[in-house]
Amino acid sequence: MMTDFITENWYIWLIIALGLASIYQAFRTSIKGYMGEKSTAAILSRLNRSKYSIINNLVLETRGQTSQIDHVVVSDFGIFVIEMKNYQGWIFGGEHTEYWTQVIYKWKTQFYSPVRQNRGHVFALKHHLRAFPNVKYIPIIVFSDDATLKITVYSNVTYSSQLLKVIKTYTEVILTEKEKDAIFDRLNAVNMKATYSQRKHIKAIRQKLKAREKSISQSRCPRCGNDLILRTGKFGNFTGCSNFPTCRFTVDQ
Ligand SMILES: [Zn+2]
Repeated sequence: MMTDFITENWYIWLIIALGLASIYQAFRTSIKGYMGEKSTAAILSRLNRSKYSIINNLVLETRGQTSQIDHVVVSDFGIFVIEMKNYQGWIFGGEHTEYWTQVIYKWKTQFYSPVRQNRGHVFALKHHLRAFPNVKYIPIIVFSDDATLKITVYSNVTYSSQLLKVIKTYTEVILTEKEKDAIFDRLNAVNMKATYSQRKHIKAIRQKLKAREKSISQSRCPRCGNDLILRTGKFGNFTGCSNFPTCRFTVDQ
């Protein structure tokens, strides 16, 4: 009986399988991006805390410009500025090329040079740490081990699995304990991470309200897109969705 059901309805399973595959495909980049950042934070957390202080997701505002830095490690040996790129496929790029190229299967995608991007991050950090002119900045770009790097750069560009090795090649002590603490505190004080996500949240709400008002002004239901009509209820006239009772939207609710 059961086998009959499965064989007779094989196309349903095929549709379900294809559906799941396309959902995965659609969200793969964001799922992987999220996991990539998590794992870089996890890798960094293995560093000795007495020598390395970590800030994940540092948001700096510099003259009206916002920089979002994936990871900053304040250490005895300088400040590591880490940019994680969770890309797959072949990665082509040069030290001075403005755009790099990702090639996956036969698809080519261009993205802004992470070397330049990280240079901007160092610039923002320098601005906020101008009280510490002797600091050494060490930008590192990290690609996931799924990528194949075909690049010609002298900047630090490495794979996730090599990140700690690269960090540990820097052994010359240039910051005192006191300077290190002061820098760490200063960066945490200027971190706009909370405000930044809150602001994005508020913006989203505002946009939603705007869209609602626009829709109502055009006599369209903001919930389902059907016409809004004047209706009569127990307590008098009101404007509601013509798709009632499927949609129970009313204005002023
Ligand atoms: Zn409606």
